[in-house]
Amino acid sequence: MPNAFTWVFLAALAVAAATRLWLSLRQIRHVRAHRGAVPGMFAEAIPLAAHQKAADYTVAKARLGIIDTVLDAAILLALTLGGALQWLADLWARAFAVESLWHGTALILTVFVLKGILGLPLDLYRVFVVEERFGFNRMTPRLYFTDMLKHLLVGAVLGIPLLLVILWLMQAAGSLWWLYAWAVLVGYSLFLQMIYPAVVMPLFNKFSPLSDPVLAARVEELLRRTGFRSRGLYVMDGSKRSSHGNAFFTGFGAAKRIVLFDTLVSRLQPAEVEAVLAHELGHYKLHHVVKGMALSWAFSFALLFALGVLTAQPWFYLGLGVTTATPAMALLLFMLVIGEFTFFVQPLLSLFSRKNEYEADHYAAQYANPSELAHALVKLYHDNSATLTPDPLHSAYYDSHPPAAMRIARLRTA
Ligand SMILES: [Zn+2]
Repeated sequence: MPNAFTWVFLAALAVAAATRLWLSLRQIRHVRAHRGAVPGMFAEAIPLAAHQKAADYTVAKARLGIIDTVLDAAILLALTLGGALQWLADLWARAFAVESLWHGTALILTVFVLKGILGLPLDLYRVFVVEERFGFNRMTPRLYFTDMLKHLLVGAVLGIPLLLVILWLMQAAGSLWWLYAWAVLVGYSLFLQMIYPAVVMPLFNKFSPLSDPVLAARVEELLRRTGFRSRGLYVMDGSKRSSHGNAFFTGFGAAKRIVLFDTLVSRLQPAEVEAVLAHELGHYKLHHVVKGMALSWAFSFALLFALGVLTAQPWFYLGLGVTTATPAMALLLFMLVIGEFTFFVQPLLSLFSRKNEYEADHYAAQYANPSELAHALVKLYHDNSATLTPDPLHSAYYDSHPPAAMRIARLRTA
């Protein structure tokens, strides 16, 4: 029984999917059109073969994105208007009372597991065919499946208690439940950030103290210059899974750790690692991390408020093809469909992120050598087969980092 909201949902889904497909096709066309020649400013640093590999890799990933978009839309339609959610709710109603926490929890977990299973073939293809073909995959099927099991267990241990608390608040806390749920969510996200580096990450990777004395001395000196305190400097065995390189911080306050991927340390010169790290320090010093958290809290506040309103509207459930109007069903529907609406906020988030990247580059240029950062960026683009010629619109919509050419141009004038 479609109502007006059904058409709003279908319109959002259609426009979002069409936009995703259109951007992917633009990206493929643009990257292919520039496949024949390395852009002038990179001509010395990047061989044509590497440029063409990056183009092919980018096209392969964009194609995967297209399949993903179509698959996601099909699953979403099958679950909602196709009646699968209602069928599952009826199925679980044989075991548990419909209003009970158990019914809601079982329903939500079933849908998550189902979505995971349906997404599995494409992810296997991504890792063992696409990443493999371009030489980035280092995972064995065995590591892939033990990782998956660990992720499932960690997800269950960390996620199910939170889900139970939120479902309980929805049932028992009155009309302001969403406000309490938001407070719980904020507290929980802080708790996760505290335990993540020490408890969760070691389940997946080994962290060893940085042993290279030359690099360690440079980094210590950089930390002293910038007045940054951290709980240590670690190298992570990222090469266990992939040859993509990275550097990042985990934790916050006094528990901050600096983590460098082993792939980064082995590929970059000490002065380049220092410059990359100075960029990461910039994110901290310029409060990007805190701003990012505040933004996500504001975002979840608005979303939970919206969910608070929607749970009380019969048209919300009926419009999405279900008659079991329980809090758990509202939460599930909301989690499933919200991405089709928030997709249109993506360009703003990308813009915010790119602005932060320029600021961190500027910071790095003050505390380290900007031309070393530029060298490091070129090496990372080369090693990761990241395209130097993205479609400008695709990049503006999605990219958290500005295109290489624009970052390097700014670093040259810094
Ligand atoms: Zn950055």
